[in-house]
Amino acid sequence: MKIQNLNDLLVDELQDLYSAEKQIIEALPKMAEKATSPDLKQAFKLHLEQTREQRRRLDQIFEGMPGVDRDKKTCKGMEGIIDEGEKLIKDANPETRDAGMISSAQRVEHYEIAGYGTARTYANLLGRPEWARLLQVTLDEEKDADRKLSTIAERINVEARAA
Ligand code: FE
Ligand code: ZN
Ligand code: FE
Repeated sequence: MKIQNLNDLLVDELQDLYSAEKQIIEALPKMAEKATSPDLKQAFKLHLEQTREQRRRLDQIFEGMPGVDRDKKTCKGMEGIIDEGEKLIKDANPETRDAGMISSAQRVEHYEIAGYGTARTYANLLGRPEWARLLQVTLDEEKDADRKLSTIAERINVEARAA
């Protein structure tokens, strides 16, 4: 699609986020499986539930956009982040693997924070406060997930240093 106005940018941003969320829903169960720390395992499981809800929020927005194909895009950025994360921990020992997974998961959150912040702002500018509100709820969850990972990392990184 040729991007010609802010509405086109919003549609593209939402399609990108939709693809990203679908990929994250696939990746998080594997990450929870591989995590050694119970805290980290729990954080991944909780964020999986939140991510399913985030996908539903995007579905709600797409339902108000007739003619838009929500599955049109593949987010290559998210593919890259997930792929790099898998390679990073492939041969790592358990403590180091947890630290590596946190680094990768925080990249995921930061990518989403950028996308949702932008989409929220576009939605407001385009006179769609109800979409902006849904996007803001998800944005707050992503920021919270990122902060939680930072807290867990404070301990895990020290354990990895001792490994
Ligand atoms: Fe998300
Ligand atoms: Zn993307
Ligand atoms: Fe997230």
